[in-house]
Amino acid sequence: MADPAGTRRIAVVAGGVAGLATALDLLDQAQEHGLDLTVTVFEQASTPGGNLQTLRQDDWQLEWGPNGFLDNEPATLRLVDRLGLRDHLLRSSDATRHRFLLVDGRLREIPTSPEAFLRSKFLPARAKLRMAGELFVSPRKDLGRAAEDPATDETVDAFGRRRLGADFAEVMLDPMVKGIFGGDSRRLSLAAAFPRMVELERDYGGLFKAMFKLARKRKNKTDAAPHGVLHSFHGGMGALVGALADALDSDPRAELRLGTAVSKIAREAGAWHVAGADFTAGPFDAVVNAAPAHAAAAHLRETAPAVHAVLARIPFAPMAVIALGFDRGAVGHDLDGFGLLVPTRERRELLGALWTSSIFAGRVPDGKVLIRAMAGGADNPLVMDLDDEALATLALAELRPLLRIKGAPEMVRVIRHKRAIAQYEPGHLAGLAAVDAELAALPGLFLTGSSYRGISVNACAKEAEQVAADVLVHLETRSNTPSEAVS
Ligand SMILES: Cc1cc2nc3c(=O)[nH]c(=O)nc-3n(C[C@H](O)[C@H](O)[C@H](O)COP(=O)(O)OP(=O)(O)OC[C@H]3O[C@@H](n4cnc5c(N)ncnc54)[C@H](O)[C@@H]3O)c2cc1C
Repeated sequence: MADPAGTRRIAVVAGGVAGLATALDLLDQAQEHGLDLTVTVFEQASTPGGNLQTLRQDDWQLEWGPNGFLDNEPATLRLVDRLGLRDHLLRSSDATRHRFLLVDGRLREIPTSPEAFLRSKFLPARAKLRMAGELFVSPRKDLGRAAEDPATDETVDAFGRRRLGADFAEVMLDPMVKGIFGGDSRRLSLAAAFPRMVELERDYGGLFKAMFKLARKRKNKTDAAPHGVLHSFHGGMGALVGALADALDSDPRAELRLGTAVSKIAREAGAWHVAGADFTAGPFDAVVNAAPAHAAAAHLRETAPAVHAVLARIPFAPMAVIALGFDRGAVGHDLDGFGLLVPTRERRELLGALWTSSIFAGRVPDGKVLIRAMAGGADNPLVMDLDDEALATLALAELRPLLRIKGAPEMVRVIRHKRAIAQYEPGHLAGLAAVDAELAALPGLFLTGSSYRGISVNACAKEAEQVAADVLVHLETRSNTPSEAVS
């Protein structure tokens, strides 16, 4: 715990964006509070950043995981500024407004205004009428109680069917959930995955009512777009974790231990210890576990059995990213858009495909285009058994007629995520409430990362600030703890 000089010691387990951002926020907030503190980050991989890695294959720039982030989360923008990356931000092109869905075997652009939606052939007239009926669907009485009463935890699909009808749920919601979570809308909790939807129904009585009222409010203000604009960095998303790691490396209060897999977090005589196959470290005043839930569960098997039980049950969807590079002339479609998503009822293998070279400039050699197909997800894990060549062949077979692709790709790269994204199934929030209850009895132990309260980079950045603040409160309230020698 506090060493003889009064320095507080914090361990951060895992150096994905969640762990790295938490470590930096801890150092910054400690400085603001005049608190002496050191942070050690334990990361099992030989490079920091977790899913955020930008690869180069010849002159093609590829993302291992996230493609970008929306610029509507102040915590991420504060992090960008803190790291001096504002000038490196890369705004997505305006083409990304055009998004496509596969409907009855044909690519159709998703209408962006209510008028365009009414005119479109996107859904049959009866489905549009049912959607309009949303105005008259009364809100559920038990909204917002999913954490206390899992029986009220509605799935995304059930919510869609109840408020907007079966067609909307199957054609719009199902592929949206696949695009964001690689998930199955019939198995995801609305309250955990899309809490804003629950708030809108509860606070405004319905989605259309919320839309009208919020539009009126916005007219009276000059707010920025509430949904945000997709951004990355000129060097790709890897630039963010590269800068985070550099900031930690250059701070004498921080240590980034790469190639250091943690297997256990333990508490002895009020102090925290972190151990792996060939090391033990501690004592620490606090440990922030930012590893994915499946790994965090293993670390806490003995120390926090209730936390272990909840975390071990959080499922993860697998995903394969299949990057295909072509000569521009080989693709008949103009690729003027963000990409396409595939509803389950279309019975295809792919979840969708992003038209990466249309989204961000500078990712491909001149005269080339890059398409990033996604396969797998909660719904179709067995596709991951295919080898790389078979996955590329499958992606090409499905995309070829839709995008009028002639000839073979010039560049192929398959990236596999065995456990890509945590699935917030019904009961997720009740599970987190049980986790919080046990953590309350284990002062100094904190959990963060994309497994719990938001899967996006933005959610990780936002939670990092909060967790760092919580750690500081913990340190300040325990400031009279007797010092122990540092091992
Ligand atoms: C294909 C794909 C596309 C995505 N697209 C987007 C997108 O466009 N926008 C967006 O906002 N988000 C996207 N996401 C989600 C995004 O990747 C996550 O928000 C983010 O990477 C989560 O960061 P994290 O630190 O929680 O977890 P991770 O990135 O998974 O990092 C966890 C870290 O923990 C380490 N670790 C694990 N076990 C141990 C252990 N025992 N000891 C030490 N270290 C350990 C791992 O090595 C890893 O570095 C995407 C995800 C995937 C998979």
